Amino acid sequence: KHQAALAARSKDDLRSPICCIMGHVDTGKTKLLDKIRQTNVQEGEAGGITQQIGATYFPEDTLRQKIAPIDPEGKQDFNIPGLLVIDTPGHESFTNLRTRGSSLCNIAILVVDIMHGLEQQTLESIRLLRDKKTPFIVALNKIDRLYGWQSTPDGAFRKSLANQNRATQNEFQDRVDKTIVAFAEQGLNAVLYYDNKNFAKNVSLVPTSAHTGEGIPDMLQLLINLTQERMSEKLMYLSELECTVLEVKVIEGLGTTIDVILSNGVMYEGDKIVLCGLNGPIVTQVRALLTPQPLKEMRVKGSYVHHKMVKAALGVKISAPDLEKAISGSRLMVVGPDDDEEEMMEEVMSDLTGLLHSIDKSGKGVSVQASTLGSLEALLEFLKQSKIPVNGINIGPVYKRDVMRCATMLEKSPDLAVMLCFDVEIDKDAEALAKEMGVKIFSARIIYHLFDNFIAHQKQVLETKQKESADAAVWPCRLKVLAVFAKRSPLILGCEITAGDLRMGTPIGVKNKETGEIVNLGRVTSLEVNHKRLDVVTAKTAGAGVAVRIECAVHETPKMYGRHFTDQDELFSLVSRKSIDTLKDLFWDGVSIEQKKTIKYLKGVIGIH
Ligand code: GDP
Repeated sequence: KHQAALAARSKDDLRSPICCIMGHVDTGKTKLLDKIRQTNVQEGEAGGITQQIGATYFPEDTLRQKIAPIDPEGKQDFNIPGLLVIDTPGHESFTNLRTRGSSLCNIAILVVDIMHGLEQQTLESIRLLRDKKTPFIVALNKIDRLYGWQSTPDGAFRKSLANQNRATQNEFQDRVDKTIVAFAEQGLNAVLYYDNKNFAKNVSLVPTSAHTGEGIPDMLQLLINLTQERMSEKLMYLSELECTVLEVKVIEGLGTTIDVILSNGVMYEGDKIVLCGLNGPIVTQVRALLTPQPLKEMRVKGSYVHHKMVKAALGVKISAPDLEKAISGSRLMVVGPDDDEEEMMEEVMSDLTGLLHSIDKSGKGVSVQASTLGSLEALLEFLKQSKIPVNGINIGPVYKRDVMRCATMLEKSPDLAVMLCFDVEIDKDAEALAKEMGVKIFSARIIYHLFDNFIAHQKQVLETKQKESADAAVWPCRLKVLAVFAKRSPLILGCEITAGDLRMGTPIGVKNKETGEIVNLGRVTSLEVNHKRLDVVTAKTAGAGVAVRIECAVHETPKMYGRHFTDQDELFSLVSRKSIDTLKDLFWDGVSIEQKKTIKYLKGVIGIH
């Protein structure tokens, strides 16, 4: 709160917006970043770009140079000091990183491969951006791959397009139109950026090539304009401290350090900080605030520039004691003279404790492990939507103790003795232990892959169980005797199916009218319709009738037509409490309403409660 006093409105106190790059794998996110970072080597200039921890900073002068191809006279207005671009492009964990409920990133570039259109992760990214209400632009990348493309390195897009032959221009328009339709299916109105008259309503498409650099000036100018238009004044000025842990890293000579993005406010060496730890809140004191050496001095490996003070927005490494249990994605707060430390401890922990609500009350569920708070949250949300119960959560690499905890499920519910691990390392010993104990570990760097693997596994488990229990499951059936071909075991009867369906192996019973006793006639050992053998016969497929052979076990007294039953009696499948439970556990999805009714009827006849 004491930092709010710093919100004086001088240009010095402006902070730069933070930009993230997202999109499907292989769309060119890394390559685009490399390209915008590229400095003009021929002129030997560093270009004013500063490499930070986990991010790259582009000051106004550099941005002006980079947009010169479309703004040679330097007319672009700048209300921001520069742009901070997060270096690690990619997945959920970065857009999902939160600072007090708002997103860490103020603006995003969603990269789409113009040759592929919208892909699975593109859709996931769109969902995240919408949830967090983050403004974004779409880089329609790899335009150099359009057939016959003539490139003008680092050129303005519209000039490049004008240079293409008619066929290439047509292909371009064609692909843009398809992309627009695909966005419309997602409920988004997308338009080529130079046709966009309303940033708040329409998503801008900016064609780019990370190989030739074409369209990159356009993209940067668009980013600047969009930020200036969409970010409120309040966000623009330095105020209360907002800081997020990107990564926890062990560095030789420094011990465990945290790489953070300071997205608002000012931080000093010696500040007392509070952050979320795996075993509870961490309260410690900043020993050093570090950024990498400038490019030319990078040869001195592992040395850093020390800062007495740093100002948002930037990426910085914090060296401090007791950071071993720090969690990526955690918020970081600075304890000011008037602040209540206890309250802050509770607040930073709330992001993790909040996720504990996702744990299923039944005590049964899978174990979930992720790299950051943000990615764990995204994964839990996914599991919740898919109604997969969760029993344990953790952040960071998988160790033996995690496997042990998951193994407790082996007794309670073996098919949930599964670990879903998103973007984390799995320790060799842990892996070996899991194998030995029968705990299944699924690991992936893409959430929906993880999910698909798990669903496939569940299906396989169910199929195996269904096979094992096929005998125990009795499908409901009612039969009327039409003809008798053999009177004694094996009985051979011509029957009409009046309800349900009849399967090989089904035990058949009849109720003695006088005593009310249920007589077991044996199991179905053959089914024939029109002299054709079948495994399952339904009322429909039976046609005029089905020939049923019923045999009793060797040790049982053979049952006889005329003595134990007549054609006046109804025959039925002999369901039991256990057989009904097996159907419910393993086959219920495949049991129709009619079959359920028949089960209810049979329960009444047989007297099952
Ligand atoms: P990421 O997974 O989104 O980070 O994708 P990368 O940046 O690693 O790029 C994936 C592949 O696409 C690499 O082989 C790149 O060289 C290639 N690529 C990226 N951008 C372009 C582009 O604009 N044009 C062409 N032709 N290839 C590109």
